[in-house]
Amino acid sequence: MRKRPPAPSLASIRRLPKVELHVHLETSLRLRRLADRAPTPRGHDGESALIADPSKFTGYDRLRRLRYASRAGKIPDDLYTPENIEQITFDLLGEAHEQGVRYLEVRAGGRRGFALLGTRRMLAAMAQARVRAEEVFGVRAGFLMTIVRERGPDEAESRAREAIDCKDCGVVGVDLAGDEENYPPALFTRALGLARDGGLGITVHAGEFAGPASIWTAVYQAGAQRLGHGIRAVEDPELMAYLREHRITLEVCPSSNIRLGLSAGMGHHPVGALMAAGVPVTINSDDPVLLKTNLSRELHTVATAFSLTTGDLKALMDAAARAAFMPADQSKVLQRQLARVVP
Ligand SMILES: [Zn+2]
Repeated sequence: MRKRPPAPSLASIRRLPKVELHVHLETSLRLRRLADRAPTPRGHDGESALIADPSKFTGYDRLRRLRYASRAGKIPDDLYTPENIEQITFDLLGEAHEQGVRYLEVRAGGRRGFALLGTRRMLAAMAQARVRAEEVFGVRAGFLMTIVRERGPDEAESRAREAIDCKDCGVVGVDLAGDEENYPPALFTRALGLARDGGLGITVHAGEFAGPASIWTAVYQAGAQRLGHGIRAVEDPELMAYLREHRITLEVCPSSNIRLGLSAGMGHHPVGALMAAGVPVTINSDDPVLLKTNLSRELHTVATAFSLTTGDLKALMDAAARAAFMPADQSKVLQRQLARVVP
């Protein structure tokens, strides 16, 4: 058997042109960081000291507590200005550019910004950053409207309609997120159907905290073209075969899974078995500020754990370009751009 070459270094991975499909804007964390950069730092209100240690909790409950603890309490409403939203979106796109990302899809929608500013103002501010980032960095972006499960099917429908209305701001899809165990995808069939009929892509957080049944309903009933995480597909060979045959792409976020206790470590992460089964897989950073990671790091960790070559990493990027929510001709252009570059 021929020995595989060593996994590429972090520096060479950073130089590879990339596509990222699963990044949350995480408005509150970024606004806190923006506020802390200001000349007169705003004092934290000390609430974080009252929050129980997230590691004592499991699953989605841990994620919720981790986010709350990280943003050090409540963010003042006056930070939610269009200027600040534009700036944090621009920051995110700039950070992606530093990692060699050429195209990314940024999701937002679950946080207070939408309630305080209104959907159109929020997305218009993000769209300004999108235009500026393309001019300054050459990085392109699309936005996904996050629909939060806990807010129920009616609000989900309004969100889907708003997302369709804001296609001119760069909205390319919707993302169903939140408490997967208690709010299964089937509840949101109507909302996601509206989005699909409105020409938007559909991705569903599924197979993260709940098992294969959640993925089956996300695909069958909610029409998911992509799955946020989807790692528990590994428990069901028939499901893996289905995902492979129908080219339903997994947005795998390794550090996120490990931090939330869904995988014991990278050596045990299901992504190895999923790739081996031929399931379309992409690698993503999920929430880089909270998880203190970026796409290059995520790829490096996966490459090291599973002995991937540069060619394998380019195949992962190609899978991401194919699964991007963009017209087929644009996706082909992106695929060609990724293939051309030899690091
Ligand atoms: Zn996510």
